[in-house]
Amino acid sequence: MRSLKKWSPGFGRILDGLIILSYDQLYYRLPYFLKPGVVSGHAFLKKREKYGRFFRDIFSFLLSSSVDEQSSKAEEELRFFLSSIRKKRLFYEIPSDLDIREIPIIDKSIVLQNYDQLLQEKPYYIGKSSGTTGQPLAIPFSMQAYQKEYAFWWYHRSFGGVTRGEKVATIAGHKVIHVNTKKPPFWVMNHAENQLFFSSYHLSNENLRYYIKALNRFKPTFIHGYPSSIYLLAHYISENEINLEFQPKMIVTASETTLDFQKRAIENAFRCKNYIWYGNTECCGHITECPRGKLHIQPYHSFVRIVDEQGNDVQPGEEGCIAATNFTNMAFPLINYNIKDVVRLSREQDCSCGKGGRVVDYVVGRIEDYIVTPEGRLVGRLDHLFKNAKYVRSAQVEQKAVNEVIIRIEKEEKFSSEIERVIYDEARSRLGDKIQIVFDYVDEIPKDTNGKFRFIVQNLKIRNVMPESSTVHKS
Ligand SMILES: [Zn+2]
Repeated sequence: MRSLKKWSPGFGRILDGLIILSYDQLYYRLPYFLKPGVVSGHAFLKKREKYGRFFRDIFSFLLSSSVDEQSSKAEEELRFFLSSIRKKRLFYEIPSDLDIREIPIIDKSIVLQNYDQLLQEKPYYIGKSSGTTGQPLAIPFSMQAYQKEYAFWWYHRSFGGVTRGEKVATIAGHKVIHVNTKKPPFWVMNHAENQLFFSSYHLSNENLRYYIKALNRFKPTFIHGYPSSIYLLAHYISENEINLEFQPKMIVTASETTLDFQKRAIENAFRCKNYIWYGNTECCGHITECPRGKLHIQPYHSFVRIVDEQGNDVQPGEEGCIAATNFTNMAFPLINYNIKDVVRLSREQDCSCGKGGRVVDYVVGRIEDYIVTPEGRLVGRLDHLFKNAKYVRSAQVEQKAVNEVIIRIEKEEKFSSEIERVIYDEARSRLGDKIQIVFDYVDEIPKDTNGKFRFIVQNLKIRNVMPESSTVHKS
């Protein structure tokens, strides 16, 4: 980590989302009328970083090329990438014929152990992956790799006819106002991108009507965010038979598993298609839903292999883990990086939409759940609690009673009370003041009977808002 610190970019701290100041306590203290200015000012600076020359080139290539053209360009760039790394004799053992299947598969723990060796050039941007094991990983990106990610975002939005500059409503875990705020507005405008950021942390039954009013006023053509948040809005709209005064062109759900019942409810309430989007902070693997409802691996984003436990590529109809190579990111080259999300390669590979490569049936993995607060708010994505927490080997959040949440931690030797404080503050800012937060330190977090690790253990019956679902999609 030493080298990364030296290279910390001038534009500030490690970012994981669109707005930095929302994470800053100072931002909360500002009077509301100043917040849009701060958010917009920050977004204006970010806009220049995101939408530069690489963005423009890659975005126009994606719009104007066929999937075959994208695949051959990917192959060409992958070979160039592997041969550059081979010449540099960097970390990996790359065979002379550049056969990627001969290169060992690595995972997060190997990357953490060899961090300094992998770090190659001054990063343009640093992303931070939390994961559900509570072990954070900072990923440095080159300018090209960073802007390429945004080109793919907008490429996916083009499937629904959405272009930059149109009205966007975002409800994706940004802390736009303090969690203890009782009265609306629960949103803040980002004028730089014509975007209304909604809080994901104030979605109580009492507040939902204000959200709907704000949406009706704003009339977004595009909504994106956590399926758990958008679902709560959809459920409220249908239950109360509310007439929406707008019809979005598309809704994109990401960052969590989009459950089938959520997708159905969202499409029904908003009268438009809910597209699933899968990506990850490491930018290793990118899967997007096409207008025909198929989930396609995007071949020019990164080179994706789907491998079994022995590291062999699976056949259509079989499940495996995503092991991907981002051949654009020379700042921190990840080759055959196992992201540990599971997909099933479809038996049926035919889709003539022309908007992506191989088809998968679903992506499953870190299936998030909700914690319910005494005020009745449902809060998901609690892996964020551990984003800035060092020396946590593994973590789990459990709820047995509505007024209490247990944060279970396997700690490393250097774990301290200051780190506990960081986690505590993060938990408070999301769960509010009413719930008791209990820390439970254990030698080993118990696994499920099927041997799987569960990050959220929810023992309460909150099925009235979380009906059973048979299949899941991770996005
Ligand atoms: Zn398709």
